[in-house]
Amino acid sequence: MKNYSIWILEYGFTSKFPRGITLHGAFDESVRFSYGYALIKGNGIVAMVDVGFDNVAYGKELNDRFGIENWHSPGVVLNSCGVTPEDVTHVFVTHAHFDHFGGADHFPNAKFFIQERELSKWVWAMSLDRKLRWLTAAIDPADIMRAIRLAREGRLVCVEGVMEDVLPGIDLFPAHDTHTPGSQYILVRNDGKKQSSDAWVLAGDLVYCFENLTGTDPNDRSYVPIGLASGSQTNLLLTTHEMLAHVGGEAERVIPVHEARLKDVFPSRLSDRGLRIVEVTLGDQQISRVG
Ligand SMILES: [Zn+2]
Repeated sequence: MKNYSIWILEYGFTSKFPRGITLHGAFDESVRFSYGYALIKGNGIVAMVDVGFDNVAYGKELNDRFGIENWHSPGVVLNSCGVTPEDVTHVFVTHAHFDHFGGADHFPNAKFFIQERELSKWVWAMSLDRKLRWLTAAIDPADIMRAIRLAREGRLVCVEGVMEDVLPGIDLFPAHDTHTPGSQYILVRNDGKKQSSDAWVLAGDLVYCFENLTGTDPNDRSYVPIGLASGSQTNLLLTTHEMLAHVGGEAERVIPVHEARLKDVFPSRLSDRGLRIVEVTLGDQQISRVG
């Protein structure tokens, strides 16, 4: 039994991105860097992990600063899977960086799940001396204000730590003081079992590339952290170990959303907009979107 399909949908990319940001120490290479989110669909449920950003106002400034090309709105991107943003009822926010949380306004019917610590610590970081602004470099203050509006509308769930079965077979796990102060990752137990033999982790930015999970020596695996963390590299490595434990040590079951090579591991296709659609798993009785 497979309850859900999981697709990773690219909404933009950077063609030449410094590899040292995705893999600590890889200072002199560049890679294609995907921007995307996950769609989880099955048994009448339409959920997302992250929502991208809006390419207007400060979002556009950040788009240009990060050199993002070919940005498309969630409406266009989700259409490739026969879904509209209005269909989405649950959004699990891995962290509040602009490229993960800035697109919230596109989802009028969704409830947003974010770690409480992620929000409160960004408010704290925004209040610090201007010389500490590196901490908030990937934050759009308008997104933090939007989170408060969502709370007022009864559409924000501030998660404190672990939250099991948010939806059947879907759990949230904190990864505090890692990439960001209150990151979280999402575990999908696709057979619905507690001890799942068909589990997937949607890792947000705790993992940027496959080598974070495996190292670069195939004969002697190790974890190598991402090159961009406002928290601790130690916590990142310990979280990597924990995520892999959820999936029986199978590195290909921990999904890094920014990894452009996902297309080589899973069935995939290019949309008519030149954006990649990756089918991580297909739920029972569901239509493939890459065939
Ligand atoms: Zn990101």
